[in-house]
This record gives sequence, structure tokens and C-alpha cells, in this order.
Amino acid sequence: APRYRFAPSPTGMFHVGGARTALHNWALARQSGGTFVLRIEDTDEARNRPEWTQGIIDALEWIGIAADDPHFEGPLFQSEYADAHLEAAQQLFEGGHAYYCDMTSEQIQERAKAEGTTGYGGWSRDRGLGPGPGHVLRFRVPEGTTVVRDQVRGDVEFDNGVIEDFVLVRGNGTPVFILANVVDDRSMGITNVVRAEEHLPNTPKQQMIWQALGHEPPVWAHVPVLVNDQRKKLSKRRDKVALEQYRDEGYLPAAMINYLMTLGWSPGEEEIQPWSVMEQSFRLDDVNLSPAFFDLKKLAAFNGEYIRRLSVDELVEACDPWLPAEWDRSVFREMAPHIQPRLVTLGDAPGVVDFLFADDPEVDEASWDKTMSTEYAGPLLADAIAAYEGSDWTADALKTTLEDVMTRYELKLGKAQAPVRVAVTGRTVGPPLFEALEVMGRDESLRRMRNALE
Ligand code: GLU
Repeated sequence: APRYRFAPSPTGMFHVGGARTALHNWALARQSGGTFVLRIEDTDEARNRPEWTQGIIDALEWIGIAADDPHFEGPLFQSEYADAHLEAAQQLFEGGHAYYCDMTSEQIQERAKAEGTTGYGGWSRDRGLGPGPGHVLRFRVPEGTTVVRDQVRGDVEFDNGVIEDFVLVRGNGTPVFILANVVDDRSMGITNVVRAEEHLPNTPKQQMIWQALGHEPPVWAHVPVLVNDQRKKLSKRRDKVALEQYRDEGYLPAAMINYLMTLGWSPGEEEIQPWSVMEQSFRLDDVNLSPAFFDLKKLAAFNGEYIRRLSVDELVEACDPWLPAEWDRSVFREMAPHIQPRLVTLGDAPGVVDFLFADDPEVDEASWDKTMSTEYAGPLLADAIAAYEGSDWTADALKTTLEDVMTRYELKLGKAQAPVRVAVTGRTVGPPLFEALEVMGRDESLRRMRNALE
């Protein structure tokens, strides 16, 4: 059975592009009855931190890639395979596929300048150097061309003449990513490498290493990068790229998963699809070659749609972590169906209903002054209080009652609602007013309306 892998480096928050790559591998492993290997590439000691590793595992679990699934293997840690990396380096050296070089980068620059070339010209190939302090091990790139068979891009041809003899082991004796990555893929029995397009320039080099070590390379697939609204590659500095941030703002994992899968691939005419369907229907052949636009508006629309599909019980439960502990959940539950149509994230919920839980509404002064300074605001509010004292306390009755009152002022409902809304909620925008009044109850609603008149 095929063996896929996801090989993140624990050097920061979990990138949404990484999440998409992980989902691709997860879908392919599961639809083929294969395995998804999680390999943490933790060899960059200066940049790794254990909390990032835990962050990767938590983020994967959040998007449904659970470590206790039978298709999941790992996490394996690259740092534990250092001996194997160096053994492979030795094998390449002994087989004549690699050689040592003691030139410093200054010496290389000078020589290149003198010869009118760029980069390293293989100048130590025949010097017969052995290992030693400061000696790097370089791969002896053969002449000819390297053809990478890519499941997304077709055959991609590289002229070996433009690939310099690249470094496999640094002067301090540590193997570089390109080598460690191949050796681990090999020893972990990886049959399929699906990763981001930015690694494509590494692939001919890695394929040469596979061949020099005497093995068939895996099947490659390089998935187009994600870009922002400026069509620039998503960057940590400019863009919101951390999956954790979306999680913490109250995006639903199902919405996030669904949206990530639509980037560069279409799950069908209806884009909203459950994971169980996408997992079976995802095909690398159908992935679009052009960069995929990571569209925050569309993601928000997906999330809103997923929120609207929740039952009230599910919505209340999903919102719970964002609600202050002291809020009465039964009050929130009554209000929840009325805010559901407009929520974009779960994290928006408390700000929409907080007036229900405060002793007094938090007043937005500008809205208050603007609304209450109209000629009709005071008289209308007084009439509304009087009418509400004898009204049934249901949203329908509250609406009809206010409609009666407002005819005396020749106002439309929107304008007539404004003073009531500001008195009760402190703001001019918010959830449906009459439902809010019903949930708040007669005594508290009237108390706030009377306070506003003072
Ligand atoms: N550690 C590499 C990265 O995070 C893995 C690349 C690969 O998938 O081969 O970019």
C-alpha cells in the first residue's frame, strides 16, 4: 500500500499552506488504504522549539488528522536518524558520487568572478580531499538532464548543467535538508511525495541522490503555492497564515478543511462538501497548475455557511469556549438562533450578545447622541414604554406594539426601532431587536428604556 508523508519543520506557527498539503496527503493515504507518516524535520536546532512540534500535532488533530487513526504513523523525528544520514553520505563518497571540498565561500566567489561564472564550478572534484574540519561534502552532479515525473505538472525537465555540485554535509559535519529528507523518505518506505511547489527546485537534486544510492525515487507531486490578494506568495509577515489563529478566532474546522481543499482543486459543482466525500474524490491529476488565491472573504463565507448549518445545540456548544464563564448559558441559548444567520466566526458571538449579560448596556456615545438627539426619540420611547407595560412579551407582540406606536410619528420601523435599540443595547447595530427584548425580559428591558429617558 502507498506510503505518503507530511514532513513539517517545527520552526513556527502552523502555516495554512502546510495544512492544505497535510490534507492532500491524508486524503490520498486514506483513499488508497495507505499510510500517512508524520515526520518532524527537527534538525535546525537554532530554529526548532518543542512547542512548535506540539503545535503541529494539535493543529493536525484540529483538521481531523488524528494520531490515533490507523492510517496515521508517527510522529517520527528526523533528529533521531542522524546516523543514517551520515552513513548515506559516506556511501555516496565511497561510490564516487560525492567529494570533499575545502573552499570557503569567499574563495568560491573570487574564483567565480575570475572565471566569469556564477556559483561553484566543481573545482575540488579531482583534488582527492578527504573529510576534515571545514570540509563540505558535495554531490557530483552528472552531465545530462534530469526528468522529474510529477503527478501535478507532468514531466519537468532540468538541465544538469545549471545545477552546481551542491552540498550534502556541512563543514561542521551536519547533513543538509536535501540529503536528510531523501534518506528519511527512503528508510521510511515513502512511495509518494506530495509537497508544495517551492520544493520543486530541490527535486532534481533529490532524485539524483536517490539514484546514486541505488534506489527508485518516489512518485513526486508539487502542489501550487497559495497567494494573497496581491497575487504574492503568502508570507508570515504580511498575511494571516497561522492555522492556529483561525482556530482561535472561531473558524470551524470543517469549514477550514473544506475551504483549504477548494484551493487549486474543485470538489464538484457544489463546493461545500463533507470531508468524507472530498477524501475519496480528491485527485492530484485534477489540481490546477496556477497559484491558488487564499481568499479571506471566501473563507469567511464558508465559515458563515457552516455556522448556519449547525443545530442550535451544536452552535451553543461550539461557541462555549468564547463565552465568559459567568454568562448564563440558557440565556445565550435563547438568543443563539437569532444571531446564527449573521455570525462569521464563533469568536464574534460574545460581542453581539454581551448587552444581555451586563448590568447596564455599554453605551457607544456617538450612536447614543445621534439617535437620542432626534426630535421624536424621547416621545417615542416614552410611548413605547407605556405601550410595552401592557403588551405580551413575545417578539411578535413587541413588534406589533411598536408598529402601532410609530404610526403616530409617521416613522418606518428601522427609525422607530433605533431609540429602543440604543436604550437597551447601547448600540445602533445588533441582533434582531424584538427577539433580544423577548430574551432580556420585560423588567430589565423597561428599566433600561426608562433609564434612557432620564
Ligand atoms: N521540512 C520541509 C518543509 O517543511 C519538508 C519538505 C518536504 O515535504 O519534502 O518545507
